[in-house]
Amino acid sequence: MATQKSVLNESRQIARAVNLIEMGARLQVLESETELSYERLLRLYKEVAGKSPSKGQLPFSTDWFLTWQPNIHSSLFHNIYTWLAKSSELEGIDAITKAYQLYTEQVGACGLEPQLSITRAWRLVRFMENKMLAMTPCSKCGGHFVTEPYENARHFVCGLCEPPARAGKGGGAGGIQLQ
Ligand SMILES: [Zn+2]
Repeated sequence: MATQKSVLNESRQIARAVNLIEMGARLQVLESETELSYERLLRLYKEVAGKSPSKGQLPFSTDWFLTWQPNIHSSLFHNIYTWLAKSSELEGIDAITKAYQLYTEQVGACGLEPQLSITRAWRLVRFMENKMLAMTPCSKCGGHFVTEPYENARHFVCGLCEPPARAGKGGGAGGIQLQ
């Protein structure tokens, strides 16, 4: 019985890893989110991606999520993630991958390229859990956006309501709405 259970668990771990690799996740995400060994993951990665995983550090800074366009994409993703985590049985990495899939679909429907990678989406959720970033409602449109942890909600105006001057007419948000 125990063996059957562990085989089932292992196949679930592999399916999860393959899914993440196909979404373009970095090896560090796989190491953190599955129980498979590093060697195992490395082999899986090469097999599925057809190349070796890229080396180097993960992005550790919260800055990227606060710059204009990435902020809109990150906010869209995190709204979907929060909704999924509340309204479905999905947990942890499974909620992240599902939310990421929905995010790319929604962005695609607006005729845009996803700016948020699955690795960054995963980082974003960690940053939120560690309270290094927060979600704050915009005082104009009411949409929830990724902000610094102690953003003043009374004065906060989002990047859709007030795009930076360089964004030009029509902005670059291309029909993304967060209400
Ligand atoms: Zn707004």
